[in-house]
Amino acid sequence: MSQRQLAYVFDLNKCIGCHTCTMACKQLWTNRDGREYMYWNNVETRPGKGYPKNWEQKGGGFKGGALQTDGKIPPKEDYGGVWEYNLEEVLLQGKGNQVVPHEKPTWGVNWDEDEGKGEFPNDHYFYLPRICNHCSNPACLAACPRKAIYKRPEDGLVVLDQERCKGYRYCVKACPYGKVYFNLQTQKSEKCIGCYPRVEKGVPPACVAQCVGKIRFVGYRDDKDGPIHKLVEQWKVALPLHAEYGTEPNVFYVPPMNTTPLVFEEDGRLGDKPRIPLADLEALFGPGTKQALETLGREMQKRREAKPSELTEILIGYTNKDRYRL
Ligand code: SF4
Ligand code: SF4
Ligand code: SF4
Repeated sequence: MSQRQLAYVFDLNKCIGCHTCTMACKQLWTNRDGREYMYWNNVETRPGKGYPKNWEQKGGGFKGGALQTDGKIPPKEDYGGVWEYNLEEVLLQGKGNQVVPHEKPTWGVNWDEDEGKGEFPNDHYFYLPRICNHCSNPACLAACPRKAIYKRPEDGLVVLDQERCKGYRYCVKACPYGKVYFNLQTQKSEKCIGCYPRVEKGVPPACVAQCVGKIRFVGYRDDKDGPIHKLVEQWKVALPLHAEYGTEPNVFYVPPMNTTPLVFEEDGRLGDKPRIPLADLEALFGPGTKQALETLGREMQKRREAKPSELTEILIGYTNKDRYRL
């Protein structure tokens, strides 16, 4: 148990899928050997297969409180490898005039970006940014026989001690979110460190600070005046992803408003059905989704009528101080 728990809220209604968060993390932590394929922060299109591909089917987590040991280690191809191009032939040897990959790729990171689901004009998609959830009951930690993974007492961030790790990869199997990665060069596992060196100085994590859409809120769960507590506990509009995995995640999502856009009927008129089916959102964010969407819709309507709405003000998050409480 940690004394405090750092947590995040990502408002999916504001994410524009620019991947700046991913690049911020990549530049800071994973731009070195053996980490080429790693994106501790990734942004995937939903509906879609995600990163690593089909991670929701990889297994792991807990069932009835018991750690599941049948989790898979995703093959490297499912992360999408680094493509090698015929640069030398074209640029140095004068063979051919087109730069192409040596082998025709069939999968890659964000291969299915912006595809989504449905037929025009009723197709739809949204972006789902993902980092380690710094779970309160981390399956990665429970699975490690070396006790190399621990929760920091001061902020609950889940970190992996590179000295203790022996590369057994039980953690890779156990994390149901696919958020532990194996470094083939060092033969050790690695994961998001929650940017703890920044957090210790009161600076938000890189992926949070660089977020173009200002969708990310960070703070402590017991800070009753902070946006995390208000959005998760008070307004109940921020929900965990796949809570049924049993790891008690500390990244919470404000689900995309599925009341706009609406579907077009066959005669071309705008109907009244949501374009993103509620069941699809509930499959990700659980049974609280409907109530969260209703609350969001109600509060937005207040603003349309020029009435005050505390929730809308919090979600806008005008300044850094409104979004980060460290
Ligand atoms: Fe561990 Fe996965 Fe939870 Fe992160 S998301 S703390 S890696 S179980
Ligand atoms: Fe990367 Fe830091 Fe964001 Fe984790 S918190 S995904 S280490 S930038
Ligand atoms: Fe979304 Fe922010 Fe990441 Fe851009 S930087 S993809 S807006 S979470």
